[in-house]
Amino acid sequence: MTLPLSLTSTEQLAARLRAGDRAALARAITLVESRRLDHQAEARGLVQSLLPFTGRAIRLGITGVPGVGKSTTIDTLGMRLIGQGHRVAVLAVDPTSSRTGGAILGDKTRMARLSVEPNAFIRPSPAGQTLGGVAARTREAMLLCEAAGFDIVLVETVGIGQSETAVSDMTDFFLVLLLPGGGDELQGIKKGVIELADMIAINKADGDSLGRARTTAMEYSAALNLLTPDGASWKPPVVMTSGLNDEGLDAVWANILKHRETLTRTGELQAKRARQQVKWLWAMLDDRVRSRLRADPRIRARLPEIERAVFDGALSATLAADEVAGLLGL
Ligand code: GDP
Repeated sequence: MTLPLSLTSTEQLAARLRAGDRAALARAITLVESRRLDHQAEARGLVQSLLPFTGRAIRLGITGVPGVGKSTTIDTLGMRLIGQGHRVAVLAVDPTSSRTGGAILGDKTRMARLSVEPNAFIRPSPAGQTLGGVAARTREAMLLCEAAGFDIVLVETVGIGQSETAVSDMTDFFLVLLLPGGGDELQGIKKGVIELADMIAINKADGDSLGRARTTAMEYSAALNLLTPDGASWKPPVVMTSGLNDEGLDAVWANILKHRETLTRTGELQAKRARQQVKWLWAMLDDRVRSRLRADPRIRARLPEIERAVFDGALSATLAADEVAGLLGL
């Protein structure tokens, strides 16, 4: 595609991205993820200029312990959706990836068919120490995918710590994949994750596991019934799937569409996204204040000693917080 030479490089990148060019999208996401200040300034301008073209995608969160079948399911579901004319982006939130050396989620090799599909875009989790940082960059990557014409954005994460909350806070629909048999603890699901679910899929409901999958599905149906308030417009269903054999995924997709239709009608979808924006604002402010705090030379000089004193029990956490905040005049 030829672009007028008068455009700045950022404007050219934005125009190529808008035309659906995946290389431009990948570059834009790299800019968003960069820690260089000039890149960050450029990324902010880029995201801002593309905002009018965002927000139209169906945003899906998907979680489950390693091995439950996330990538198999995403690969199969993604191919079905592309077959229906959709364009599918897959992102990941994995705050541990930088520590364990190499992202596992959103890894192209795990999604053999989608990774060679021109109407799909797969991006592994950005590396980063804090969940807040990783989540912020994934949110912006999601906006860039939307501006590039991807009308379905899937964000996957594993069932560890707070990452599910972060993903459910950036998506419209949160899908929890479970294995046949065993309760939450046995499956390694963290407390609170089931409460976030808009739907539970008992995956690997095939072969010898089918019977156990049925029992598990009934148990979780009962649990979700108890968790859902009376009169709620959406009651999270439990479905059985086999990502491997492409079974049950039509029910998964039908529920996602039904949820969207219901929440659009009641105005809840718009309200949910508006609440997410305000939460995002606070998450960014918290993150910035925290990094300002940690970067302050006076605090850096005193912090090891203060932390040690709190650890040893010589100083109360309250007094320590007072002292640190006092250094900044807070
Ligand atoms: P992830 O770690 O959650 O992404 O899980 P994967 O999608 O990589 O799947 C882990 C293993 O389970 C692989 O060997 C898959 O072939 C297998 N698997 C995934 N989905 C299914 C399923 O629906 N049924 C069965 N029987 N195996 C599956």
